[in-house]
Amino acid sequence: MSKSFGDMPKEEFKKYGHALIDWIADYLDNIETYPVLPDTKPGDIKSTLPQTAPQLSEDLKNIFSDVDKIILPGVTHWQHPNFMAYFNSSASGPGIFGEILSAAFNTNGMVWKSNPASAELEETVLNWFKKMIGLPEEFFGVVYDTASVSTLHGIAAAREYSGLNIRAKGMNGIPKLILYCTEHAHSSIEKAVITLGIGMENIHRIPVDENFSMIPAKLEKAISEDRAKGYVPFCVVATIGTTSSTAIDPVDEIADICEREKIWFHLDAAYAGVTAILPEMKKYFKGFERADSFVVNPHKWLFVPIDFSILYTRKPDVLKKAFSLVPEYLKTAEDNTAINYMDYGIQLGRRFRALKFWFVLRYFGVEGLQERLRGHLQLAQQFSEWIDKHEMFERLAPVYFGTICFRAKPNGITDENKLNELNEKLLNTVNSTGKVFLVHTKLNGKFTIRLVVSGLRTEEKHVMLAWEIIRGELAKLCK
Ligand SMILES: *Cc1c(COP(=O)(O)O)cnc(C)c1O
Repeated sequence: MSKSFGDMPKEEFKKYGHALIDWIADYLDNIETYPVLPDTKPGDIKSTLPQTAPQLSEDLKNIFSDVDKIILPGVTHWQHPNFMAYFNSSASGPGIFGEILSAAFNTNGMVWKSNPASAELEETVLNWFKKMIGLPEEFFGVVYDTASVSTLHGIAAAREYSGLNIRAKGMNGIPKLILYCTEHAHSSIEKAVITLGIGMENIHRIPVDENFSMIPAKLEKAISEDRAKGYVPFCVVATIGTTSSTAIDPVDEIADICEREKIWFHLDAAYAGVTAILPEMKKYFKGFERADSFVVNPHKWLFVPIDFSILYTRKPDVLKKAFSLVPEYLKTAEDNTAINYMDYGIQLGRRFRALKFWFVLRYFGVEGLQERLRGHLQLAQQFSEWIDKHEMFERLAPVYFGTICFRAKPNGITDENKLNELNEKLLNTVNSTGKVFLVHTKLNGKFTIRLVVSGLRTEEKHVMLAWEIIRGELAKLCK
């Protein structure tokens, strides 16, 4: 007979719960005292942890103290204002509250009945956000964990839309399905194509112009050539804000082609999509309402704790047709009157993610979010001007959003290999200061440093500090 039942005592939960909130508040307040990148080697953290789980109950005090001793020194501080790598993701206070509450409710929103509040709040906040970014009423949204998974569902819907009835028959004996995108499309497109059995060689890469944007005439040509070979063009993926350089594909012209050719049009705006809440940024989203599916990640640049990605589609019936499968035990009386989100994807169980988005939208308000994004966009323009004006640097891509692609190009060095080596060294020395974290990409074979301004806590002084460190480290390397 077991001697222990139940959860931790309420008094203990309260005591440590209050202390935890204090800890988090202090952590965020002192975030700049930590190195952005931890000074650890692979295995360092593992080696300080026991090899087996504790046999007996441990004191919470010890668990929390190990957070300070073992975990914290191994954390990369994404909340640091000088975290300017990848596409930053920063969590706001209201977002953290929403996350905590969703863990406390711990519901599984498979069907409406399994948590009506989750289903209806998800529908509501996704409708709010749809209006904020200017997508028409007909779009239907679903929350997934990441853009990779949103895109997988978008491309699965495209496959369903091909009319080849792959859901029932599988892929045997059908003609080649072809997907089109540029070489700058995110690797999640390839992952989706692998997963869906399309095959990597059936991604046809459409050439880009000098700004890394898809050339529509080349897309048209590729489609007609493929049709002539008996292949089935089934999906075009365009991007607003590519991962390397934040390039923008000509969405309106691509939509024309997709409409004419009756091909599913998937639009990836995982990073940049949130800027559509700004009227002045609408110019970059012209025609985006013509996409069949559209991905945006509020966890990237809208201060919602990771994970939170949205797939909007104006053909939800196709997405549902691709995935809906209702076992007997999940049939409910409300099936025809309420949304059962399990019908729109591969996962059955789902977290109550809408809460954190609801908290963030209400706490900041549309205007509060707009002001913050505007601030980031201005800082990025400022950094971009510094690069343009400095004779030892050059900018390698247009700056549409909050990302600047650049490299050092000191006078006299023209050899591309030497420049690549120099910039790689520069990036490493800048990152090893612990004061700022940047990553690189390659554009036209050039080693390119990327600086991203999208952190909730990033201000002008942080961008200035990054610039100072970059120039200082370059001066040392060129001595
Ligand atoms: C970040 C990003 C992705 C992948 O995002 P995850 O949510 O990490 O899967 C896909 N596409 C673009 C354009 C991105 O910026």
